Amino acid sequence: MNTTFFEKEINEMIQQGILKTIPVVDSEQGAHLTVSGKDYINLCSNNYLGLASHPQLKKKAIEAIKRFGVGTSSVRALIGTNSLHIELEKKLANFKHAEDALVVTGGYLANMAVIQTVLDKEDVVISDELNHASIIDAVRLSGVKNKFIYKHGDVKDLEKQVPEIKKLLKSKKSDGTIRKCIIVTDGVFSMDGDIAPLPGLVNVAKELNCMVMVDDAHGEGVLGSHGRGIVDLYKLNGQVDFEVGTLSKAFGVMGGFITGKKEVIEYLRQKARQFLFTNGLSIPDTAALIAGVDILEKSDKLVKKLWENTKLLQDGLIKAGCDIGETTSPITPVMIGDELKAKDTAVKLKNAGILVSAITFPMVAKGSARLRLMPSALHTRQDIENSINAIVKVLQ
Ligand SMILES: *Cc1c(COP(=O)(O)O)cnc(C)c1O
Repeated sequence: MNTTFFEKEINEMIQQGILKTIPVVDSEQGAHLTVSGKDYINLCSNNYLGLASHPQLKKKAIEAIKRFGVGTSSVRALIGTNSLHIELEKKLANFKHAEDALVVTGGYLANMAVIQTVLDKEDVVISDELNHASIIDAVRLSGVKNKFIYKHGDVKDLEKQVPEIKKLLKSKKSDGTIRKCIIVTDGVFSMDGDIAPLPGLVNVAKELNCMVMVDDAHGEGVLGSHGRGIVDLYKLNGQVDFEVGTLSKAFGVMGGFITGKKEVIEYLRQKARQFLFTNGLSIPDTAALIAGVDILEKSDKLVKKLWENTKLLQDGLIKAGCDIGETTSPITPVMIGDELKAKDTAVKLKNAGILVSAITFPMVAKGSARLRLMPSALHTRQDIENSINAIVKVLQ
């Protein structure tokens, strides 16, 4: 086939200035990293706790490779489940104070696994308007037609829709069964760093007799005691049906997981296509993650340090007159407004040796472009002070 279509599209992206150039890292992910040989203070990774290159995770991965090799050579349900997978799932369930856990190869897939498996087109989904792309994609994949979108973080807006939802839930599906319904939300919203109003959502779910799902990708390893996540933070244990997490952010490796009641997790294990038709995590990934969960279970030192650094960064920015929006998590926006100015500021900071993300339309609304800073437990006071000074200087 003639492929000029692709060339044309790429040329258009170049003309619009939206073609991404992907930086290549040639060091460990740490407080600093090197891109194409140059050293930077790293304020854009999701390596909240520094586990991505933690000595204990590396050691466990190497030991596991020596014992089991690298690959698992089959989907989990056939012969690709190693004893390490079971150990990881047990430890995650324990850590989350849940009955059971299922691990898949990404947070993206974990969202798909829940929503596509549980809902069909006649069921109902209730979703925050700013939910992550993986939730939006999962809803599309499930074919659900009855979608209720509420204003971001706004339980009152959702309550206004309750009578209509109630009415719909009273009607049966065409096969005579009742309509399942899930309220789904991100735990921490990744563009603003604000946290879902989970207690309010749980109350609405009780009123509607429906399920609750939280995608806590940026909350796992960050919120609650020892980083147990948003459900622990709000003390809602047992009241959220599906807790989805990622193993690719604070946990430092890759993968996604779902925790919940025994029968809920067993149902997903039996039916989720994202578990049945793709391989599980590799041996070194799984072993490293076991070490990561052990570290968090034993000590909250890294989580405390992350929050110390978060406070240092956010207090410093506010003192310097920056607008950091509504964040209540380590995700730290610095509001700029203009798209080009945000991009330009990020480039200038890069030239000054500091890596931050510029977040622009369509990731956020037009005119609300910002820098996004991600502190970690690894940063020193000096790293953070240097970064604040550089940001203030560039913005003046
Ligand atoms: C990062 C993220 C994901 C995807 O997680 P992966 O493990 O990288 O697939 C899903 N949901 C949210 C809210 C995220 O921030």
